Amino acid sequence: MESQKVKKIPISEIFYSIQGEGKYCGTPSVFVRVGGCNLRCPGFGDKGCDSYYAVDKRYQKEWELKSIEDIKTEIKKYLKFDPHLVITGGEPTLYFKELYPLIEWFEGQITIETNATIDIDFEKFPAYKKVAFAMSVKLSNSGEEYNKRVKKNVIKSYAKNAKKSFFKFVIDKDLKKEIEDITKNINLSIYCMPLGATKEELEKNAPFVFEFCLKNGYRYSDRIHIRLFGKKKGV
Ligand code: SF4
Repeated sequence: MESQKVKKIPISEIFYSIQGEGKYCGTPSVFVRVGGCNLRCPGFGDKGCDSYYAVDKRYQKEWELKSIEDIKTEIKKYLKFDPHLVITGGEPTLYFKELYPLIEWFEGQITIETNATIDIDFEKFPAYKKVAFAMSVKLSNSGEEYNKRVKKNVIKSYAKNAKKSFFKFVIDKDLKKEIEDITKNINLSIYCMPLGATKEELEKNAPFVFEFCLKNGYRYSDRIHIRLFGKKKGV
């Protein structure tokens, strides 16, 4: 009999912490961070994004190939706390087919932190409808080309099929026109959070973002883990 191949996913880290940003800020959560992203975001500092170690191929040797069963074993250690599950990256939707058994299995709230550029077939993979997609669609400050970072058909599909989803934009200046272009006719909450991979950068941008949210009726999200731990991994 032909042996069934176990599909493995590159995992940068799995850890238990408090969600530090967005709609479920403050909630005890198990974080599963996949390795790999379809974008680079050179606008976000020297190393690109704040999770560069889950994006940059130079850190690939630190990623571990794990099966869904391996990932479940890690998550089970924390189920006594009734945590949320947060799948982040890198870009988790690169592996949406491989991750599907995990989405079906986990009974609590799941958030997928995504750049919302990769389409998911919600009819073929219906458990994704219960997921809250934290759509961090990249704006011009990411340094990515518009056509690569904004996929309106994907954003609309996530919003229509996964109704707990929300937008989460990284802001360092007035990008209202870009936010309006992306969120037009989509009835989901819009969170803005200050750009900043360090505490100093975050503190510099936070007052502007606070005022920007007040002026435009957006929700302000802080980044608690950066305030408390800076660039530290696994927190
Ligand atoms: S999309 Fe997100 S994870 Fe990917 S490079 Fe940009 S900021 Fe980093």
